[in-house]
Amino acid sequence: MSNRSFFLQRESLVGSDKLVLFCENRIVVKGDEFLWLQEQVIDLLPEDSEFLLVDHNGEHFVAAHTSEDIAEVVAAESRSLRSLLFIEGESDFSVAGKASQIMSWYRTHRYCGVCGSKTSQHEQQRALLCANCGEQYFPRINPCAIVLVTKGREILLARSARFKTGFYSCLAGFIEVGESAEDTVLREVKEESGVEVDNIRYVKSQSWPFPSQLMLGFHADYKSGDIVPEPGEIEEADFYDIDDLPAVPSPDISVAGELIQIYVEQVRKGEI
Ligand SMILES: [Zn+2]
Repeated sequence: MSNRSFFLQRESLVGSDKLVLFCENRIVVKGDEFLWLQEQVIDLLPEDSEFLLVDHNGEHFVAAHTSEDIAEVVAAESRSLRSLLFIEGESDFSVAGKASQIMSWYRTHRYCGVCGSKTSQHEQQRALLCANCGEQYFPRINPCAIVLVTKGREILLARSARFKTGFYSCLAGFIEVGESAEDTVLREVKEESGVEVDNIRYVKSQSWPFPSQLMLGFHADYKSGDIVPEPGEIEEADFYDIDDLPAVPSPDISVAGELIQIYVEQVRKGEI
């Protein structure tokens, strides 16, 4: 990757460019649509607006930010990224999630954390440079491990103190400094549920932009121990038969839902 643009000039935008518009930390949405064509809104954006290029699966998108309340002017509304999870297809949501994370990173790295000088865009990479001390800053993601723990036909599910009532999911936690993802699986399952697992295997991952997480999805077998929910973190945890599951996340929006769905299908097909 060389000599590429990370920002576009207003004059170089074309009518068919798809824009994701942010008003502060919210996305401007009209009905269920939030990808605007350049010609629909460009004249309404402030003169000094920056246009951020966002590549996603080979397609180009543009993200723009304004602190002016443009939503009202275009008879739209501004919504949180999280609320779009439930109205948009996976692809559009991914674009918005990526744009949101990159934009937020630029906003929070205007100055060098070492010497306090202003940073500037690296010529060849999505990075910010400090011309004074040479420090480089790259967009940061925070890895988390999420794990489906199974015991025969049963799945370990927990209700977090943070979830809305009645909603259950897999156990998960941030990977701490110095840990492997497998270390995190062992530690989080033990801390949150009291049980021990083995045969940990990686299944799949998902970008989760709240705010900048990478969820690494694992499957592990129950090994030993009684369930003891972690006070303050887990309100309830138990093993549930695949034919008698409580409300769980949709596989369309969350890797936890996918891990559950994959296992349930395997058991039903007799593969387990
Ligand atoms: Zn510096």
